[in-house]
Amino acid sequence: MAESNVLGIAFGNSNSSIAYINNEGKADCIANEDGDRQIPSILAYSGDDEYHGFQAKAQLVRNRQNTVANFRDFIGKSFADIDPTHSAVSAHPVDTNGTVSYDIPATGKTVSVSELATRHLLRLKQSAEDYTGRPVTGAVLTVPTDFTHAQRDALIAAAKAAELNVLQVINEPVAALLATDAIQDGGKVSDDKTVVVVDLGGTRCDASVIASRGGMYTVLATAHDYDVGGNQLDDALVDFFGKEFEKKTKVSATKDERSIAKLVNQCEVTKKTLSASTSATVSVESLAEGVDFHSNINRMRYELLGRKVFDKMVALVQDVVKKAHMEPFNIDEVIMVGGTSHTPKLASRLSAIFPETTRVRNPTASATSLNPAELNCLGAAVQASLIADFEQTDIEEATHAVVTSAPHIAKPIGVLVGDEFVKVIDSETAVPARRTITLAAPTTPGPVYVAIYEGERDVKVTPAPPRESNNDEEDSDYEEEEPEDFREPIIKPSKKIAECVFEGEGKGKVEVTVQVDKELQATIMARAVGGKEVVRGVVGK
Ligand code: ATP
Repeated sequence: MAESNVLGIAFGNSNSSIAYINNEGKADCIANEDGDRQIPSILAYSGDDEYHGFQAKAQLVRNRQNTVANFRDFIGKSFADIDPTHSAVSAHPVDTNGTVSYDIPATGKTVSVSELATRHLLRLKQSAEDYTGRPVTGAVLTVPTDFTHAQRDALIAAAKAAELNVLQVINEPVAALLATDAIQDGGKVSDDKTVVVVDLGGTRCDASVIASRGGMYTVLATAHDYDVGGNQLDDALVDFFGKEFEKKTKVSATKDERSIAKLVNQCEVTKKTLSASTSATVSVESLAEGVDFHSNINRMRYELLGRKVFDKMVALVQDVVKKAHMEPFNIDEVIMVGGTSHTPKLASRLSAIFPETTRVRNPTASATSLNPAELNCLGAAVQASLIADFEQTDIEEATHAVVTSAPHIAKPIGVLVGDEFVKVIDSETAVPARRTITLAAPTTPGPVYVAIYEGERDVKVTPAPPRESNNDEEDSDYEEEEPEDFREPIIKPSKKIAECVFEGEGKGKVEVTVQVDKELQATIMARAVGGKEVVRGVVGK
């Protein structure tokens, strides 16, 4: 049997990345033969040659009609269902009997989206084989959470045609969270936490709320914005510099497709530079009508130009938190994913909508932060290594969607101690699950009463202390902000589901165990620590 060499592949509209498990057993991102780890998902044709990645991206300036870009979202869709907006700068999709394809003048052929996906995956597989020096034995692919079954099936079929053995297709945000837990946090099964994964890409932005309970992930809510992404930030710069060029030279940089393509390329480079530096230069030879363009911009100006785009990205995150019926303070962690997450302003804007207790993981948060553009493929590689040795039948089952969305408990279950709800099992815990807590009990022997409740998320508002009036200031124009009430998340008991009385041993401790099976039936056990008597009850869903 061939030695296992499994990959994680993140196939984006803009870029793809591949990760493998290195000799030390760690997931690592692979560079293709050009040295790129973010490989543009672009194919270009000229004569008999096929270009891929950055080489194909370079063809967008001179050979646009033979260059196919931004096609991942078209996989498995009919022509009537696609939005070709992002094809404006490349070859345009055409309707072939209701399916999506491209006419390539250089080859005289019409090529379908599935065939392009196969070619792209084949090139990625070849790069991985060159890099690792071994044949690839399987791969886990990531897709956005809104990919339909038909799209997943079409992607698997395209991979099979590239002789790529698909072990599993997993959701992008789950992969990113897995990479963070397994690699960034060294594989420790972290405490229960609720996480927002925000993927800021080139053509679109996606956000999800995921509950992580005992190492199991459950996607609670998702939100997508197909009209916002890094490309809009490039466009803001193109608009700004286009006007400046025209003002300086009286020549338009936006009339001719080739000039636009050149300016777009340069603006993307400038934008990336502004993520790392506070100023950047712009230089395009022969931008239009043979006239060169040289200019510069500082980060502050860029952040003003991009403000509307940043607003939409922040709104997407607020929206997904709302969709999960939560408030920002219910979120323990935010993981920023995707190339656009390198933008410093976005890290500060997102941090501002969450309280200090929420950890916002972004590339500048720590020196050991993983590259946000690599999180999806790294997580997929970790998953691939976990399931690489599964039997074929298990693998086939694992590609089935059910495995990736486990049933979970809707409401927390806990014990009422005085007025306080003490959580035993959190909401959104995937089932089957079992949790035990130990509580203080009387230190003298006698009956102990335990009441088990279902809880409900609530907010405790502590009014801000009234501002001391200062007569001197009353007349002044200076308006001090009203102090804000203090809000904190609490769980309030909503429904009693069981109660029991047993003989306490007087040792000062009782143990309560709640176990919920796959059918959401709960078994509750309570006993005095050190005592023999166990009270057990079963509660239906
Ligand atoms: P999508 O599917 O939304 O098109 P993707 O997942 O294919 O996205 P990513 O590589 O995550 O693509 O994101 C690409 C975007 O990230 C591009 O707009 C690119 O310009 C931007 N980007 C990459 N690096 C940086 C950087 N250092 N600073 C700012 N933006 C960056």
